[in-house]
Amino acid sequence: MKIVAGNWKMHGDAAMAHALVEAVADQAGRAPGVEVILCPPATLLAQVSTWLIGSAVKLGGQDCHAEAQGAFTGDISAVMLRESGCAYVIVGHSERRQYHRETNEDVRKKSARAIATGLIPIICIGETLSEREAGQAETVVERQLRDSIPDEVAEGRFLLAYEPVWAIGTGKVPTPEDICRMHGHILSVAADRTGLASPGISVLYGGSVKADNAREIMAIQGVSGVLVGGASLKAEEFCKIMASGR
Ligand code: PEP
Repeated sequence: MKIVAGNWKMHGDAAMAHALVEAVADQAGRAPGVEVILCPPATLLAQVSTWLIGSAVKLGGQDCHAEAQGAFTGDISAVMLRESGCAYVIVGHSERRQYHRETNEDVRKKSARAIATGLIPIICIGETLSEREAGQAETVVERQLRDSIPDEVAEGRFLLAYEPVWAIGTGKVPTPEDICRMHGHILSVAADRTGLASPGISVLYGGSVKADNAREIMAIQGVSGVLVGGASLKAEEFCKIMASGR
């Protein structure tokens, strides 16, 4: 089953969220066979969770703290996410790595905390444009994988998301050959790091996924689904992406 996850980032209010969630839940009901995950801002989680009652659509947070609780003003714990109805949490998004200086070690600790709490972390990795132009994309991604994946992973208890930083919000997408090559690389490194067989590891692609390229991207070998930013805020567009995963 393909996975389609929407990362709303710091967008959305209650009215917009309600309309979007209704459309997505309706589409999920009419076209099952795709695992759909919505990751709204933390302030909307509890409300969205009640709107999703009776729907197969899952809820995810956009980040969690590595500690179970404590004096961390402004942060959100994995338990808080779970209590708000989350089954998933995005960790190590490039915007967290860039603007909050999150390291691979931070991402590993957050992922371990998520797993210990019963959440499925969506562990994000991906190279910058300068790293790609320097021919270092595969090396950078390998380092991120080896250092960001915690020891606690088990089959079905984590997702990886390959998001080349230069493709996020830019309208630029790697060629299908490049995506296929990188996902193959990620699968083999992740299998080596975890001891799991690569068919048991899921790798999403993220970066400028839209309704008109989602089907082609999800058909690429090694792509288990997509992580969608901007296009997940538009009901019609996101529903079309969901339909592409069937
Ligand atoms: C993202 O931020 O995870 C993302 C993939 O963004 P976009 O789809 O807008 O490129």
